[in-house]
Amino acid sequence: MSDTTNASFDVIVIGGGPAGYVAAIRAAQLGLSAACIDDFIGKDGKPALGGTCLNVGCIPSKALLDSSKQFYNVTHHFKDHGITTTGASMDVPAMIGRKDKIVKQMTGGIQLLFKANKVSFFPGRGRLLKDRQVELTSHDGSKRMLQGKHVILATGSKPIDIPGVKFDGTYILDNAGALDLNATPKRFGVIGAGVIGLEMGSVWRRLGAEVTVLEAMPEFLAAVDADVARAAQREFKKQGLDIRLGCKVSSAEVQDSAVHVTYVDPQGGTQTLVVDRLLCAVGRRAFTAGLLSEDCGVTLTQRGMIEVDEQCQSRVPGVWAIGDCVRGPMLAHKGSEEGVAVAETIAGVPGHINFDTVPWVIYTEPEVAWVGKNEKELTALGIPFKVGTFPFAAIGRAHAMGETAGMVKVLAHAETDRLLGVHMVGASVSELIGECVVAMEFHGSAEDLARIVHAHPTMSEAVHEAALAVDKRAIHRAN
Ligand code: FAD
Ligand code: NAD
Repeated sequence: MSDTTNASFDVIVIGGGPAGYVAAIRAAQLGLSAACIDDFIGKDGKPALGGTCLNVGCIPSKALLDSSKQFYNVTHHFKDHGITTTGASMDVPAMIGRKDKIVKQMTGGIQLLFKANKVSFFPGRGRLLKDRQVELTSHDGSKRMLQGKHVILATGSKPIDIPGVKFDGTYILDNAGALDLNATPKRFGVIGAGVIGLEMGSVWRRLGAEVTVLEAMPEFLAAVDADVARAAQREFKKQGLDIRLGCKVSSAEVQDSAVHVTYVDPQGGTQTLVVDRLLCAVGRRAFTAGLLSEDCGVTLTQRGMIEVDEQCQSRVPGVWAIGDCVRGPMLAHKGSEEGVAVAETIAGVPGHINFDTVPWVIYTEPEVAWVGKNEKELTALGIPFKVGTFPFAAIGRAHAMGETAGMVKVLAHAETDRLLGVHMVGASVSELIGECVVAMEFHGSAEDLARIVHAHPTMSEAVHEAALAVDKRAIHRAN
């Protein structure tokens, strides 16, 4: 499994998630000797690379979102196409089995990539000592030392639990638990109407659970553009997601095989919600437990993240940190790009990442996606802007697909026309956001997007029309 003859490497990466494994592969591509230590054990009891993302995050959640969407389409939308189905039912263990197979295939794929790139993989826990020495504790408890010219810390994040709500893995669940239920609960409760809460709430709602989401903030998706958040909220309500805003949860207790959740509603009244399973998804925190020896020199921020500069270098020269364990959005692609940039910097190639154009996607139905700043942020910064919006309801392809909900909103500088942000809610907007990221990365303007030929009929015509609408010249709608 590992090249045990060589205990000294140009680069040792601790953590094999999308930040760490990508850094190790890029370092090896650049001719550096690279090792990666990761302690994750998969459902089959064997070491599994890919971290949270491949094992209990991005990929398994999207697998369940897709399975549940297929079921929802059969039971709700097929009849619109003239297709009659009777007796459609959901085999939840089969759905979970499909998800597990995908995870296994993806995590095994990283091991093959490591072999192909000659990255040495050490299953077990890594601990940074002084002078870039790393203590490796294998899963059998044996220890050995590795020496790195450079060490990259990529240990990711863990879910936050709130006082009074303790994960028990059966009734009160974190993301991993909510991805592994063997039957659809009748009543599924969620604490936190954030990204995980909405994605996992959607999965179990589509499969028939009564889903109640308790959110502490009075505003829905406060970080998202207000028009987009409003449109998304409307659609989620139609789907039967009961999202209760301004509700602060204080405790959850299991009694008679049900979870009793106590919360304070916006009027200040204490309420109890009774559900069969409860997902607590109130954010994640950097994971650094047992990682740093006292004399290693690496420091943490007040919020417990590894302290790094713009280039991801810690206070100790030659020790770097990337991904969820450092500042910035907790997104797989952000971590991977940091991994590439750090490996390139170490190899003497200019490493670069533009944090202003990191896209966000929420994979609900409709999907929500954005890049750049929203209206509220631009107003707070005093940046003058113009707005162009366009609804999918005026797009032919959207009608053909039966996916008319949502819209695209383009924000451009009022004087220079430079793109400042693009925000969307609708079917497959996870794919549409890409062209907007490219346009912003190249400092494009709304005019640039408006002059690009977009294929007809496609959903991407909404991006084109929204860009035209910035100067009140959308074609398929009165301006
Ligand atoms: P991680 O993926 O957490 O990997 C860190 C690895 O290091 C783990 O394997 C861990 O076991 C290991 N480790 C920790 N400490 C040590 C140690 N001392 N020694 C050895 N190994 C150690 N992001 C997206 O961009 N898109 C999505 O659609 C998306 N969906 C998500 C869905 C869910 C349910 C969740 C929970 C997250 C999702 N995310 C998504 C976020 C994404 O998973 C994270 O941003 C990403 O995994 C962070 O990558 P990382 O490499 O920094 O850390
Ligand atoms: P989140 O930050 O997206 O949402 C947490 C929500 O919980 C917030 O709305 C917050 O106001 C609410 N909350 C906090 N305390 C509460 C309380 N006591 N009672 C009720 N509500 C409370 O966090 P998350 O959903 O746990 O996801 C963690 C991170 O994982 C995300 O921020 C994101 O970076 C990543 N992620 C990304 C994707 C994606 O890219 N599609 C999917 C899942 C997760």
